[in-house]
Amino acid sequence: MNPSRILLLAIAAVAISVFFASGGQHYLTLDMLKAQQDNLSAYRDGHRSLTIALYSLLYILVTGLSLPGATVMTLAGGALFGLLWGTVIVSFASTIGATLAFLAARFLFRERIQDRFGDRLKTINEGMARDGALYLFTLRLVPLFPFFIINLVMGLTAISTRTFYAVSQAGMLAGTLVYVNAGTQLAQLDSLAGILSPTLVGSFALLGLFPLITQKILALLQARKVYSAWVKPQTFDNNLVVIGAGAGGLVASYIAAAVKAKVTLIEKHRMGGDCLYTGCVPSKTLIRSAKAAAQIRRSTEFGIHTSPPDVDFAAVMARVQAVIKAIEPHDSPGRYTELGVDVINGTAKIISPWEVEVSGDHGSHVTTTRAIVIATGAQPFVPEIPGLTETGYLTSDTIWGLQEKPERLLVLGGGAIGCELAQAFARLGCRVTQVEILPRLLAREDSEVSEWVESKFRQEGIQVLLGHEAKQFLFEHGEKMLITEQQGQTTRIAFDQVLLALGRSANVSGFGAEELGIRLSPKKTIAIDGFQTTNFPNIYACGDVAGPYQFTHTAAHQAWYASVNALFGQVKKFRTDYSAIPQATFIDPEVARAGLNEQEAREQGIAYETSIYALEDLDRAITDGATQGFVKVLTRPGKDKILGVTIVGEQAGELIAEFVLAMKHNLGLNKVLGTIHIYPTLAEANKYAAGVWKKQHVPQTALKCLAVYHRWLRH
Ligand SMILES: Cc1cc2nc3c(=O)[nH]c(=O)nc-3n(C[C@H](O)[C@H](O)[C@H](O)COP(=O)(O)OP(=O)(O)OC[C@H]3O[C@@H](n4cnc5c(N)ncnc54)[C@H](O)[C@@H]3O)c2cc1C
Repeated sequence: MNPSRILLLAIAAVAISVFFASGGQHYLTLDMLKAQQDNLSAYRDGHRSLTIALYSLLYILVTGLSLPGATVMTLAGGALFGLLWGTVIVSFASTIGATLAFLAARFLFRERIQDRFGDRLKTINEGMARDGALYLFTLRLVPLFPFFIINLVMGLTAISTRTFYAVSQAGMLAGTLVYVNAGTQLAQLDSLAGILSPTLVGSFALLGLFPLITQKILALLQARKVYSAWVKPQTFDNNLVVIGAGAGGLVASYIAAAVKAKVTLIEKHRMGGDCLYTGCVPSKTLIRSAKAAAQIRRSTEFGIHTSPPDVDFAAVMARVQAVIKAIEPHDSPGRYTELGVDVINGTAKIISPWEVEVSGDHGSHVTTTRAIVIATGAQPFVPEIPGLTETGYLTSDTIWGLQEKPERLLVLGGGAIGCELAQAFARLGCRVTQVEILPRLLAREDSEVSEWVESKFRQEGIQVLLGHEAKQFLFEHGEKMLITEQQGQTTRIAFDQVLLALGRSANVSGFGAEELGIRLSPKKTIAIDGFQTTNFPNIYACGDVAGPYQFTHTAAHQAWYASVNALFGQVKKFRTDYSAIPQATFIDPEVARAGLNEQEAREQGIAYETSIYALEDLDRAITDGATQGFVKVLTRPGKDKILGVTIVGEQAGELIAEFVLAMKHNLGLNKVLGTIHIYPTLAEANKYAAGVWKKQHVPQTALKCLAVYHRWLRH
């Protein structure tokens, strides 16, 4: 705790101790007030302004320090200043005091609590940011919780001070009026308990709950309004229909079957989706062959002399297909049917919120369902560049059909897919030119990662053109050509094949979403809330079609929430947890990340410090000739709280798992450092990165004391 916090805590502790030690609690009682009423009134008559000032100050102190006696103080307000002025004075004094208590709790404890339980408090924080004013208003009106607890707890949440003040003043007004009014008739008052009758408490409760209930009813009505054009079936064929059998759809349907729901999975093409046929599996298989070729080229480094690799491109591509075939059974209709899913091969179209039409080789039919999960994925984005259609192009959908190695491959796009495939094809013997409009590759990563990748690519013979905008494709002297522009300068690039790797657009049309009125986000994905729900409360979406991430593991992660919320949402809904999303770009060496990197932390205004461990120092990296790269950890300044980790290096995608676990379960670097890592492994890099952090935070004074102690022992 920093010195100013300690000072404030000490002042508060002393003030509270003085209050109790001097018997303050015995002065702020109804009997004492009644006994002193005449004296107090006489003093007020002589010094009205001073009485108001002293009274207000005392009230603020009592509420600000959360001392007992606010009720008696309020009665005194009525007794001394009458209903109108008493209410005005108490209203301001009590709100100022409450806000001071709120601010003190915030200053003293909020950061610590958010650091410690930030991930778990995320939902509460979001709820408070959205509806905090309503909750506070209700709490102020319904006298269930003592006000001093509300002040302190609210200080720990994300509600703004201005909102807290305004809502507190409005919310406490009714109660203030009742007590001040009671104070005006102090003589008739025998006990505090009599002031608030059960009927009055009930009325306050109703008043307090009214806005909250109204808000919920309005939300419900709004949600129901989307259904007004359709008639809901009386019974349903399914509990859940899932559209699309990629990573998202497979998991969503599996979850539903596992909990014994009746679920139909509709796939128009091949089960397994992008990941199996055109994404992760073929790309990682290709990358493995490319790595073998690269390792053979490096063999002399390891004392082995061979000839340069002779890449049999057709055999490499055949292996890609063989691997797909080997993994295919994991996602097969047979397997999912066995798991209890009704699998239909056909094209799905939502025709009402509860009806899905399936068209296939055997005609079409309509199936009814209580809920729907949309998991229709995404497709490669194809830009409108003049001449592109004429020259023809490859995408991640079509490149896997290549049988002949393109001698000159042009890769448009410097993101993850573009980089993975550019390096793989280059290593397999293509002359690769990579064109990126932005000034660096992997632009979402920190700049040193981009620089590292760029220099590695150049080293491996890839021509990297950054800041180049693709302007026109054409045929020139029988050759395919791209014209790019960079700061007014044009460049002509001859190529045999061009691969478009310019991002992926969500598949939001062709299955009834537009006709139904399912809303889209500004990024043209299906708009979902934190529970994967679309604007139709019984229709959910997950995976690439919903975003914001486009990974197999995030599609599967969201699918769990979509399926569980679709089936059990009436009882309990679960908010999708994005607290530690990992990602990897499988270039060689790999780039992996979990949580924030530096540029994101800066963009979001989050303070951080970095601990970097370079792999050139790691024994196992040295034995393996894999010394390129680093582990970079972002932590809260002065705190053992991991904000994010970036790893560049051999097997970075595996190494990051330790940090994902740590972040998900709120473990800090001390815990990583205190864990035994096998020697010699690459995983030790994680521990050494934690060690770098530790060294940066050694208590210098304690070390100086230890040095003195040891010196003393030696003499
Ligand atoms: C080259 C490449 C490499 C990648 N590498 C990785 C990686 O290493 N790691 C990683 O995590 N991610 C990777 N990805 C991303 C990953 O493949 C996707 O994020 C993931 O496949 C998304 O799954 P999904 O279920 O959302 O969609 P998809 O897998 O695209 O599945 C959607 C399915 O819906 C079906 N469908 C669509 N409309 C209808 C309809 N009307 N009726 C019936 N069926 C319909 C489609 O046919 C498709 O099978 C890669 C992607 C590419 C292109």
